Amino acid sequence: MRTNRIYFRQTCAVCGRGMRVQIELLGREVRCAHCGATQSATDGGQTAWTDLSIDERIENLERQDQQLAVRQA
Ligand SMILES: [Zn+2]
Repeated sequence: MRTNRIYFRQTCAVCGRGMRVQIELLGREVRCAHCGATQSATDGGQTAWTDLSIDERIENLERQDQQLAVRQA
């Protein structure tokens, strides 16, 4: 089975717990699985990509994910 789902980590602004957010949802409303709060998905200052467009940020995340996959292989 093959999946193309790529996630990034985000900390919930309400309960502070970690969420896994699909990169497709970057910039959209997402719901925290722990407390149910909705907030906009963001890669939140952990990266310096805030000047980039959503598309560019998704590309960067995909690249980062591929590098991780290679390292784990
Ligand atoms: Zn929460």
